[in-house]
Amino acid sequence: MLYVISACLLGENCKYNGGNNYNEKVAAFIEDHSYIMICPETSGGLKTPRVPAEMVGGTGNEVLEGKAAVISEDGTDVTQEFVAGAYFALEDIIEAAEEGEEIMAVLKSKSPSCGAGMVYDGSFEDRLTPGDGVTAALLKSKGIKVLTEQDI
Ligand code: SF4
Repeated sequence: MLYVISACLLGENCKYNGGNNYNEKVAAFIEDHSYIMICPETSGGLKTPRVPAEMVGGTGNEVLEGKAAVISEDGTDVTQEFVAGAYFALEDIIEAAEEGEEIMAVLKSKSPSCGAGMVYDGSFEDRLTPGDGVTAALLKSKGIKVLTEQDI
């Protein structure tokens, strides 16, 4: 089994504010397991620190279909970077996995990239809506099971 982990959950300072979301449970969970870390927002070309962004007009699936956008709090459209980062993450995962190896992702909850099940609703008011982040939606569409740190 190959695990895919949001880099910020393992202490990488790639969060929008320059910090991380280190999670002891996730770190303990993947000990002795084979895993790779991803950070779709930075691999998609966004800098750290960066202005936070949320999905507007839909969630991950709609963004991937071109029916919704990812917008920074300052109004910048960062959809392209989020979609590119999702595909870069998928490429990295495919490259790292052995032929036929099962893959499971544990990603950062609520994030417009990594969140799974519930994500911020585009209001920048800390409100959630059902749906997945762009990367989580892409991975799910490829049959990869996606959990968040809250499931560990
Ligand atoms: S939630 Fe995902 S995209 Fe955001 S900092 Fe963590 S790994 Fe990177």
